[in-house]
Amino acid sequence: MMLGFPCLMYYFWVCVEHHQGKLITPATYSIQGLQSFIYNDIIQKVIAGAFPHLLAVKIYMGFVVYTAICAYTLPGIVVEGLGLPSLKGKKLKYLCNGLPFWYMTLVLSAILHITGLFRLTLIADNFGNIMSVAIIWGFTMSSLVYVISGIMGKHHRMSGNFFYDFFMGGCLNPRIGHLDLKMWAETRVPWPLLFYISVSCALKQYENQGVFNAPALFMVLAHFLYVNSMQKAEECIPTSWDIFYEKDGFMLMFWNMAGVPFTYCLPSIYMMKYESVTGTTISHSLPYTIFLFTLLLTAYYIFDTANAQKNRFRMEQNGSFITRNAFPQLPWGHLKNPSFIRTEHGNLLLTGGWWGIARKPHYTADLMISISWGLITGFGSFLPYFYFCFFVFVLTHRVTRDIQRCAKKYGKDWDRYCERVPYIFIPYVF
Ligand code: NDP
Repeated sequence: MMLGFPCLMYYFWVCVEHHQGKLITPATYSIQGLQSFIYNDIIQKVIAGAFPHLLAVKIYMGFVVYTAICAYTLPGIVVEGLGLPSLKGKKLKYLCNGLPFWYMTLVLSAILHITGLFRLTLIADNFGNIMSVAIIWGFTMSSLVYVISGIMGKHHRMSGNFFYDFFMGGCLNPRIGHLDLKMWAETRVPWPLLFYISVSCALKQYENQGVFNAPALFMVLAHFLYVNSMQKAEECIPTSWDIFYEKDGFMLMFWNMAGVPFTYCLPSIYMMKYESVTGTTISHSLPYTIFLFTLLLTAYYIFDTANAQKNRFRMEQNGSFITRNAFPQLPWGHLKNPSFIRTEHGNLLLTGGWWGIARKPHYTADLMISISWGLITGFGSFLPYFYFCFFVFVLTHRVTRDIQRCAKKYGKDWDRYCERVPYIFIPYVF
């Protein structure tokens, strides 16, 4: 996977940049045919069009450093994570300043674009080059964190297999002062970058066609909602599975620094390239467009409120609940006196709200969101659907691991919970 991820990203880049999203294959499957395909059709095109030049380094690393400075310095609330077995039950503190960062960044980027100091269209113009910098940075950061945390004696739960350990990570919570690198990498770099790639593609469309069409605005709205949801509910993230359990290895770091922004954006990039080659924009009938906006907003509503219901319920039990009126606060996001199952472990399992309907209602909603990103591009290419397909795999894998962990942790109480809420994703289906 460590070799495969970057190769896949470059392959997709060549397909979208040079072949209008068509998945290319070697002309023949002989050794010479494969060599020629890899060298002439992929490597040469990558060197010519996706070289990590200085401007790309400035754009990408400038953004990475800017987000780290913001995460370190901006004011925000401080919340505690879960007690960590590796630190003898100690709870780490997390500075949650995502909202000021997000709003400030939106204003700053608008100023930079309008004044011409930094045209946001430069991101789309140098997409392949910036992606190469991100790939190099993904490897560099994973290696630095792995080596430095090892020297500091902070590796734990190691298997002894170097490649597996490097992939899964050595250290659970690498930090520079109070800056938690995993939390920063997860919330501040990939999703805002994804949003700006879509904004950049929409602005390119405006530059070329003089209008923003519905599919381009759809992608901007979709990515805005996703980033916004993460920043407005940042205080819920320290208790999430990634932060308290997953180590900060190549899997999380590479994917956050490079994989998420540069593959999840394929719908926007595909539509932009389609326009630049054909001179026409992708458009759909009014009913289809309305259907997709409805799908996106409905799925977002379920995603937002399901996450909010469980996280607020859990925070109320811990006594860490804080009222934050970050936009948008949606109805049914906070359950008053919901039903639950009390476990011997001490934790309560929510069985009210969306959580009485399915055990992973937020995953179902997230999958609906991801398929809407593909559907808005039509059916001309597989690439805009890559995120959905990949996400089905990621979430199925996550569910399996999570169910195993919870079954072990809660024993017969988990069986009672599964009897009470028998369906995982969709009631009466699965
Ligand atoms: P979940 O929100 O599913 O959290 C799982 C944990 O929640 C369990 O281990 C358990 O922890 C607790 N839990 C499970 N059921 C209940 C219940 N009924 N009541 C109370 N607590 C319960 O984890 P994720 O971090 O996977 O997902 C969070 C969000 O992030 C989702 O919306 C997901 O779609 C999204 N996501 C998006 C990704 C992307 O790439 N776009 C990638 C991954 C996630 P405990 O041991 O404390 O009981």
